[in-house]
Amino acid sequence: MIDLNFAVVTVSTTCYDDPINDHSGPALIKYMADKSNENIQWIHLASTVETLLKLSDELRPHLILTTGGTGISPDDVTPEATRDIITKEIPGISQTMIAKSLAITPMAMISRPVCGIYQQTLIINLPGSSKGCVECLDFVYPILKHAIDLIQNKRTEVDITHSAMQIKTNRKHHSCGGDHHHHHHHAETSNKGERLRHSPFPMISVDDAMNIIFEYANKMPIIDKPLTECLNYVCVEDIYAKEPFPPFRASIKDGYAVRLYSDPSHEKIYEIIGRSDAGGENTNIPLMEGQCVVINTGAKLPDSANAVIQIEDTQVHEYHPTKTDGLDEKSIRITTECSMNQDIRNIGDDVHIGELVLEKNVRLGPAELGLLATVGLRTVRVYDKPHVVVLSTGNELMPIDASSSDNGKIRDSNKIMLMSALQNLNILNVIDGGTAKDDETSVIQTLQSAFELADIIISTGGVSMGDKDLIKSILTKQFNATIHFGRLQMKPGKPTTFATCEVNGKKKLFFGLPGNPVSALVTYWLFVVPTLKHMMGHIQPHHPIIRVQLNQPIEYLDPRPEYIRVIIEWSTKSSIPIARIVSPDNQCSSRLLSARRCTGLARLPSKTDVNSSFFNINRDDLGQQVDCLLLLDI
Ligand code: AMP
Ligand code: MG
Repeated sequence: MIDLNFAVVTVSTTCYDDPINDHSGPALIKYMADKSNENIQWIHLASTVETLLKLSDELRPHLILTTGGTGISPDDVTPEATRDIITKEIPGISQTMIAKSLAITPMAMISRPVCGIYQQTLIINLPGSSKGCVECLDFVYPILKHAIDLIQNKRTEVDITHSAMQIKTNRKHHSCGGDHHHHHHHAETSNKGERLRHSPFPMISVDDAMNIIFEYANKMPIIDKPLTECLNYVCVEDIYAKEPFPPFRASIKDGYAVRLYSDPSHEKIYEIIGRSDAGGENTNIPLMEGQCVVINTGAKLPDSANAVIQIEDTQVHEYHPTKTDGLDEKSIRITTECSMNQDIRNIGDDVHIGELVLEKNVRLGPAELGLLATVGLRTVRVYDKPHVVVLSTGNELMPIDASSSDNGKIRDSNKIMLMSALQNLNILNVIDGGTAKDDETSVIQTLQSAFELADIIISTGGVSMGDKDLIKSILTKQFNATIHFGRLQMKPGKPTTFATCEVNGKKKLFFGLPGNPVSALVTYWLFVVPTLKHMMGHIQPHHPIIRVQLNQPIEYLDPRPEYIRVIIEWSTKSSIPIARIVSPDNQCSSRLLSARRCTGLARLPSKTDVNSSFFNINRDDLGQQVDCLLLLDI
C-alpha cells in the first residue's frame, strides 16, 4: 500500500490575496480527510497555475485537484493551463462530472473542467464553489484509486490519503507575484519532463518569513538552574526581594560614626570610644552625645550613631600615649558643617523588601547575576537552551585541514562560521552534523542523523535551483516535512528555506540556508538568531534597528531589498551613526571578505520601493540614510 500524495490548488485572485476567503480548498481537503482518518498537512503556497504544475515536477503528487477558474469569464483559464501540460486527457472524468452536475444545476453547461495526466500526476479540474467542487469530487471518487494505480503503473493499492498540499493561486495563467519574469507559457512547457527552470516556491518578504518561523518556534522548556550556571540564560519569572539591602545601617565613607551634639553651636570635638570595622563583631557600641567610633565603608553603624563624618573632614584633636586597636587617636575635631544622617545607607536603601529586582524574560548577564546573588537567590527558573545541529552539503567540500587541491574542491567555511556564531549566541550544544554529498542517499542519511541529534537543524547549500540541490525535495518526500517557504525577496539569501517536520514524535525546525558563505551568514543573522533568542525566552529577540547614514552613496538598487554588510561608526560628519560599507566594490555573496568586522546589516530598499529622489544625495562624501540592523551577538 502506498500513500497518496495529493495537492489542492485554489485558483482565485481573492483567495490568493487573502486565504481566509478560501472555502473550496479546505472543503476538498476535508472531503479527502473524511475518507481516511489520516491527519493531513497543507502547504500554503501562493502561486500561479503554471507554477503549480511545475511544482508537480518537484513534489510529484499522485493527484492535483484544482478548484476554480473553469467557467467562461475572461479570467477563467484553469482548463487551458491544465491542457497545456497534460499529455493524456481523460475526458470521461470531466464528462461524468458534467453529466451528473446537470442533474443538480443547468449551470454545469458552462463549466469546462479538464482532466488528464502530466507525468505521473492525475490532474482534475473542479468548479470553484465550495459545494460544487465537493459534489464533483464525490462523483469521480469511486475511480480515483484505480486510476492512480494505473497511472503509477503499480499493482499496489494506493492508500487514500496521507499528505496533502494546498496551494492558492492567482487566476492569472502566466507567472505573477514577486517573480517578475514574464516568460511565454508554451515555450516553457513545450519540452515536457525537462527540469524546473523556475522555483515553484513563491517569493515572500523577509517580514512574512519571520512571522511564519515564529509561528512554529516554541519557547524551550523551563528548568531550575543553580545561580552560578545561569549566565546568559533567560529568567522565566519576576524576582522580588525577600530581604532588604543593605540589611543594616551601613557607612558610606571611611571616617567616624558620630552621635552629634544636639546643640549645633557646641564645639565640634568628639571622643573616640571604639571602632566598627566592616563585618566586625560587637560593633554596636553605645554612644553618647559627643562620642564617636572609627568606621570604614560598608561597616555597620552603632544604633546610637546619627551621622558619618569622612576622615577628610576631621583633624586629630588629642592623641593617646599608646595605640589601642591600632590607633592612637583619642579625640577629633570636625572641620566642616555636618547634618543628621549624612553618609549613612539606611536599611533597604539599595533594594527594599518586596521590590521587583528583575523582570521576567530578561537575559541574566553580569549585573543581573550580581543582583540575584545580593537578594539571596540560589537557583533560578530559566528557559533551557536548544541543541542545534549544523551541517553542510556539497561534493565540492573538503575538511578545513585539507591541503589545497586542484580537483574542484574547496574548504568548508560555512560549518566553522555558523558553529562559532551559535557559540557566540550562547548556544551551549552546537553539534557538527557532518557534510552531505550531493546524492539522495547521503542527504537522507545526513538529515536523518541530524534530526536524531537535535530539534533545530541548520544546513547550508543544496536549496537553490541546481539539479544537485536536493534538500527541499528530500525533506518533503523522505521526512514528510512541510516547507513553509522556499524563496525570499531578499539579497543575498533568495533560496532560504524553512521547514518543519516530526521525527520520533518530536517537532523539528529546519533552516535550509543558501550555500554561499555570505548568504548563509546573513540569513543566519536575519532568521536564525531571532528564532533562537525567542526560543530561549528573550523578551526582545529581534535585532535593534537604527537609522544610519551610509558612508558613500548607493547608485544602484536591486529589485529585491538588499542587506549589505556595514561597520557602524560615529563621526561628527553626521548627526546619526555612520555605516561604513564593508568591501564596497564587491559585496558578492561568495565573498566572505564583505562580512569582515561587520557590526550591522544596512537594509537597502528594493528598486521599486523608492523614487528617483533616493539617488539625489547632496551631502558631500556621505550616502543615503537607511535602516540598519545592529548585530549584537556576533
Ligand atoms: P549551493 O547552494 O549548494 O548551490 O552552493 C552555492 C555556493 O556556495 C557554491 O559555490 C558552493 O560551492 C558554495 N558553498 C556551499 N557550501 C559551502 C560551504 N559549506 N563552505 C563554503 N562554500 C560553500
Ligand atoms: Mg551545493
